[in-house]
Amino acid sequence: MSPVYRNAFLWMIIAVLMILLFNMFNNAGNYSFVKIDYTKLIRLVDSDKIKSVRFDGNEVYITTTDGKRYRTYTPEVKDIADKLAKKGVDVVVKPKENNSILTNILIYWVPMIVFIFLWFYFMNQMNKGGKALNFGKSNARMFVSDPKNRVTFKDVAGIDEVKDELLEIIEFLKNPGKFTKIGAKIPKGVLLVGAPGTGKTLVAKAVAGEAGVPFFTISGSDFVEMFVGVGASRVRDLFNQAKRNAPCIVFIDEIDAVGRQRGAGVGGGNDEREQTLNQLLVEMDGFQTDTNIIVMAATNRPDVLDPALLRPGRFDRRIVVPKPDVKGRLEILKVHTRKIPLGDDVDLEIIAKTTSGFVGADLANLVNEAALIAARKNKTKVEMEDFDLAKDKVLLGPERKNAIISEREKRITAYHESGHAIVAKMLPNTDPVHKVSIIPRGMALGVTQQLPEDDKYTYDKEYLMNRIAVLMGGRAAEEVMLGSITTGAGNDIERATEIARRMVCEWGMSSLGPIHLSDEGKEVFLGRDIAVRKTFSEETARLIDAEIKKIVDDGYRIAVEIITENKDKVEKMAQRLLEKEVIDAKEIDEILGLNDDRAA
Ligand code: ADP
Ligand code: ZN
Repeated sequence: MSPVYRNAFLWMIIAVLMILLFNMFNNAGNYSFVKIDYTKLIRLVDSDKIKSVRFDGNEVYITTTDGKRYRTYTPEVKDIADKLAKKGVDVVVKPKENNSILTNILIYWVPMIVFIFLWFYFMNQMNKGGKALNFGKSNARMFVSDPKNRVTFKDVAGIDEVKDELLEIIEFLKNPGKFTKIGAKIPKGVLLVGAPGTGKTLVAKAVAGEAGVPFFTISGSDFVEMFVGVGASRVRDLFNQAKRNAPCIVFIDEIDAVGRQRGAGVGGGNDEREQTLNQLLVEMDGFQTDTNIIVMAATNRPDVLDPALLRPGRFDRRIVVPKPDVKGRLEILKVHTRKIPLGDDVDLEIIAKTTSGFVGADLANLVNEAALIAARKNKTKVEMEDFDLAKDKVLLGPERKNAIISEREKRITAYHESGHAIVAKMLPNTDPVHKVSIIPRGMALGVTQQLPEDDKYTYDKEYLMNRIAVLMGGRAAEEVMLGSITTGAGNDIERATEIARRMVCEWGMSSLGPIHLSDEGKEVFLGRDIAVRKTFSEETARLIDAEIKKIVDDGYRIAVEIITENKDKVEKMAQRLLEKEVIDAKEIDEILGLNDDRAA
């Protein structure tokens, strides 16, 4: 059940309970009246002991002078009422409710019906395997490979080494007997390590597809839910299901959610998680030689995993799924454009080159966005311009066309972005400027897009320093050109400071020398990291802060110098931006009077 439904459901239960409670109180008054028979009623009427009486249809409620309360039933309401009224007793007569059947239905049957309805709803949910009260059942989704459209290695591109490493597993799943007969040991657990979107789930599914076996998948975060004991029983259930369908693959996504080192969290351990993890270990240890299940798990944080998970006989095979390089990206683009009609001007190689840092999921998303954009324009083919727009969207979030930006803000943004761009163009060893825009997107009012020429794995100090200067270029332009500074540079400053921090603390690029200074407070809540906080003294902390400040200040100084020297160019670019909102690499070169071959 989705949270929305769960909420609605809770409210419904509360409403029903309220109705019931209301009813009880409504009738409660009547229960304090002692029931008497008709004879006693007549006797009371004659006795002068009645203080007040209330007729409710044919029901009679009597309060005596000595405070006793009685109730009974009479067919002769009128006679008795008259008689008592004459004696001076307080008489209240309420007419018989002729809608009593309807009232009855409303009061007694509606809640009943609601209850019955809810009951059925529940049962239905449980059978369908919904989450509502289905605590013990695993949420494993099973994909039995349908020979027609199963995922195979053909769908996975750019990670050939990973596929090679998995060939053996496929072989085993296809023909387990062959291996067990000669006593060969096959890994039970394979840990796929890689950033989100690199295709870990996809490749695991493809292994199942290639071998033609069922694929069970569950996410680690599904285990860590609700009540203690639930996760463990889900694990048990999952493996029982898998055993019945062996040979098969069990895939656990985000295993770090359950597999974090035990007893390391803040405020003691997390019982639920530990129980779940223990159960997982028990299941894997319980595999017989003929249990033909391969457990595959995915994580991007192998460092936080409990060492017990990585011991022999558990996840002892570790495969790194890397981010794709240019060639890999091209292959992935080819896979995803297989069924998409491409215009003649589309050059997948260029797209691959200009999407450094994109993972498979990003590229799949890019292709899909491009197709959507083309379709919206009623095109029959997806063209290069559609890919360009799609790339901006994937990189920067959708345009906020309707955002209301004042002229003043627009002006400031134009100078700010021009500042970034000019500093980037004037300094050597920086990424080429691809595009500058003052169309608001996501949280940003504008953007200067730089794309690295190739995949970078290491950075030199000059590149990092210049990067900081480029980031400070926005603020510098505001100050030099407009004489005022705004909050618009907040994110730039944060990013610049982060680079500077890493230069000092991780990459040994300051006067503190090549030393690793871990001051990461940010991961305190993630299990074991808590142990490695602060490895230095207050004194060192002060030095670090001073070094970081020096680096950022230097970057800002460089930026201010460049902007001051090139005021005319900044001005020209800002004006052009205000006019056109977006300018590309070619126009930038034209504005700068450059014939720069670095322009992409
Ligand atoms: P992960 O599990 O690593 O987070 P997924 O396997 O869920 O990533 O990838 C999400 C989607 O991205 C896939 O369904 C696929 O469409 C695309 N994708 C990711 N990696 C690749 C790849 N190497 N080849 C082809 N498509 C990929
Ligand atoms: Zn900026």
